[in-house]
Amino acid sequence: MKKQMDPRMHSAEHILNQTMVRMFQCGRCFSAHIEKKKSKCDYNFTRALSPEEISQIEKKVNEIIKADFPISEEYITRAEAGQSFNLERLPEDTGDRIRIVKVGDYDSVPCIGPHVKSTKEIGNFRIVSASFENNILRIRFKLDKGHAE
Ligand SMILES: [Zn+2]
Repeated sequence: MKKQMDPRMHSAEHILNQTMVRMFQCGRCFSAHIEKKKSKCDYNFTRALSPEEISQIEKKVNEIIKADFPISEEYITRAEAGQSFNLERLPEDTGDRIRIVKVGDYDSVPCIGPHVKSTKEIGNFRIVSASFENNILRIRFKLDKGHAE
């Protein structure tokens, strides 16, 4: 069986993705490596980020974490989900009941991964680096223990 993803890191990925979508109108990451110590997300992108943009992303993600939004789930049919969401990243064998995971009113997306119950559990979010190459923006991030500052 596949190793269980770290719920704090994976929940941070949800918030980072929605923040990227809102700030840059890019899609959610097309690939992610989520590890307890350090994670990375890759986005289809057209340029590098400025240091100001990187700190804006950090600030927004930490704002959502500090707001302590509940992370909840609901199940809808595949047909319903297909109207609002891109289902390409779900495994083929997911079945007809699709789990939608919501971070307060900030984000909602079909997902099968493990999540924390509310965003404050994630701790402080920090971008370690952001690199741009071949139209791919890679963001590496860490979580500091304890509550967001
Ligand atoms: Zn998830």
